[in-house]
Amino acid sequence: MEKIRMKTPLVEMDGDEMTRILWQMIKDELLLPFVELKTEYYDLGLKKRDETDDRITAEAAEATKKYGVAVKCATITPNAARVEEYGLKEMWKSPNGTIRAILDGTVFRAPIIVKGIEPYVKTWKKPITLARHAYGDVYKASEMQIPGPGKVELVYTAKDGEKSAVTVHEFKGPGIVQGMHNLDSSITSFARSCFQYAVDTKQDVWFATKDTISKKYDHHFKDIFQQIFDEEYREAFEKAGLTYFYTLIDDAVARVVKSEGGFIWACKNYDGDVMSDLVATAFGSLAMMTSVLVSPQGYYEYEAAHGTVQRHYYQHLEGKETSTNPIATIFAWSGALRKRGELDGLPELIRFADVLEQASLKTIESGRMTKDLALITELPDVQVLNSADFIRAIRGEIEAIL
Ligand code: NAP
Ligand code: MG
Repeated sequence: MEKIRMKTPLVEMDGDEMTRILWQMIKDELLLPFVELKTEYYDLGLKKRDETDDRITAEAAEATKKYGVAVKCATITPNAARVEEYGLKEMWKSPNGTIRAILDGTVFRAPIIVKGIEPYVKTWKKPITLARHAYGDVYKASEMQIPGPGKVELVYTAKDGEKSAVTVHEFKGPGIVQGMHNLDSSITSFARSCFQYAVDTKQDVWFATKDTISKKYDHHFKDIFQQIFDEEYREAFEKAGLTYFYTLIDDAVARVVKSEGGFIWACKNYDGDVMSDLVATAFGSLAMMTSVLVSPQGYYEYEAAHGTVQRHYYQHLEGKETSTNPIATIFAWSGALRKRGELDGLPELIRFADVLEQASLKTIESGRMTKDLALITELPDVQVLNSADFIRAIRGEIEAIL
């Protein structure tokens, strides 16, 4: 069989630990035999990041701006223990944070649905895609502990020195206070990314805040979303038969649970943090959650939502077999290949991305799966495979389909 050709390279960002091992297996077994794979390779493994003073991460993000589509392996975000473990020069920042800062995007997370792994919520038939705003609010807040009686104010000093202030609280005794912010530019690109992704994937957008209580802060999010929708997306939505729906966050959670799924749920930063873990777990497993960063300029970076699976990696280093689930990483590749195929007009490549996903799901549905899924599946006669055997089984399914 002739290999499928590519036009433009994908930006390939390699990573760390167990996912780095899976990365190579996926390339060797599921991609290279079928596709004339063109990538521009960036090693974001911690060692290389340290050697390059983390320049490699910024270079990979810049390359994504050049080519438009990237696929990323999970990477270690160093903490004190990692600085010691790897003898790092510095506690380098989260690669995802660096990439997000350069591409200015929104992260969309969606569960992979497969027969035999049923959502805990009975009504959910289609994936719910969570779009989390990734800037500001409580994640960039200033906080203070108030020791005793006194007044707390919010003060804004304009460039020309003019001040305006509001009273937060007249404390009669000890307490706490928090000041947080967001930016019109960031909220605007968040809104654009959500609407653009909705058009791309043909899904409705739900957005919710607590604007009845937060009449300036949350209300501003609502206003910006409405403005971007009216000015830039209403027409495209009407043409595609899609809707934009705004409601209160407490109403939204109730509706989400009763829904069938199949829409994008846009969440403010904290809501998105909490709700994405809830949605991922309720759909079955973190190892089945995809993630894509979409920039307002239309750059795409695909990855798995989970980390480097450190515990499994240490077992692997001891020479033990692991049954680590490669599905979300495979779907990162299929997502990136499909997008590349769409942008370059390569139907064969798009079809291969579809086949790769079908083959992965078919393998699980036939009862062959990794341990994490075996623990929650409702299928009878399950065969638990190690990662290498599971990936080989998927290869068999690809060959059968092709
Ligand atoms: P993790 O890698 O997501 O794994 C946490 C646990 O979830 C695992 O121990 C495993 O449970 C289960 N799990 C996750 N993915 C799995 C898979 N594919 N197959 C089977 N089980 C899976 O989180 P972590 O161990 O807390 O973090 C490890 C490193 O990842 C950290 O250094 C962190 O900085 C990094 N991280 C990176 C990203 C990213 O690059 N996007 C995201 C999150 C974390 P059991 O142990 O019960 O089997
Ligand atoms: Mg979280």
